[in-house]
Amino acid sequence: MTRLEQPIAVCRTCCEGYEFVNRLLDVNNLEVTFAKRAGKFQAVRGVSFSLDKGEHLGLVGESGAGKSITGFSIINLISKPGYISKGNILFEGRDLAKLSLEEMRRIRGDRIAMIFQDPMMTLNPVLTIGTQMIETVLAHRRVSRAEARDISVERINRVRISSPERRLKQYPHEFSGGMRQRIVIAISLLTDPALIIADEPTTALDVTIQAEIMELLLDLCTSRQMGLVLITHDLAVVSQITQRIAVMYAGLIVETGPTAEVIATPRHPYTRGLINALPQTRHGEKRLRQIPGVMPGLRNLPAGCAFHPRCEQCRDICITTQPERRTLACGVQVACHLVEE
Ligand code: SF4
Repeated sequence: MTRLEQPIAVCRTCCEGYEFVNRLLDVNNLEVTFAKRAGKFQAVRGVSFSLDKGEHLGLVGESGAGKSITGFSIINLISKPGYISKGNILFEGRDLAKLSLEEMRRIRGDRIAMIFQDPMMTLNPVLTIGTQMIETVLAHRRVSRAEARDISVERINRVRISSPERRLKQYPHEFSGGMRQRIVIAISLLTDPALIIADEPTTALDVTIQAEIMELLLDLCTSRQMGLVLITHDLAVVSQITQRIAVMYAGLIVETGPTAEVIATPRHPYTRGLINALPQTRHGEKRLRQIPGVMPGLRNLPAGCAFHPRCEQCRDICITTQPERRTLACGVQVACHLVEE
């Protein structure tokens, strides 16, 4: 049994005494606006979270919650007509939202790496893996071609692919889906980044391969002290490999805190709904308890709490007033009228 196949283990003690030292990333009140002909709308509506060096954060929620746009905005990869309309993104002390395209390009390939759901978003189908890896190293490091090749071979070894010398001569189509994602992870490691942002990195893979890839990613991030922002709809994976969790709904973080605490005692009704939908929490029940309804479109958000049309605990105030995010003594932050400080 791999580590990811084991049941969710909830620890109530490991996060006690957690201190914000060695801060790597601080996202403060981030807003992302899309300006379309039909009008403007916000896809991310004042998101704040932080990450320490070597820490793993899970950004979870259903499709359309704003998770991927939040991840892309960290590395300034939001496609027009989207733009960062408010807030700042402090990474190693620099505000990424204020950097020039060239400065951002350098940080993106060097200090921050992104792993996409589809490996072919990273790989060029007409170039060998060796050419792509060696050119990446040469673009970011002052090394000879021979040294760049050695670095590439070492990274392929690191992702546990055999015969790395031979792999360098192969094209992406000669690899299986799982092997291609391993190659993408190897490329992301070429410059020893401080932060990896992984957007649904296993969703496109066979179920049998998913756990292997997540375990590999976890081992690499842990052994190299790399920060990880894992964007996923899969709460079970987040509960197993992250120390902190941020649950997103309709462009907002509705609950965030130490993963073990949030999973053990979810305070927000949406987080509770996600946990109730996990098969292993239903104790013998065959049917999963899905959250009723669907997430509203970001152009047509309901007034008050955006979750209120789906919330079984909705009160009058929820329909008119958006709840503030409160910080509880346990370190969890929740945006819900029913949660007391
Ligand atoms: Fe439900 Fe009201 Fe809390 Fe929103 S604020 S999650 S509607 S109880």
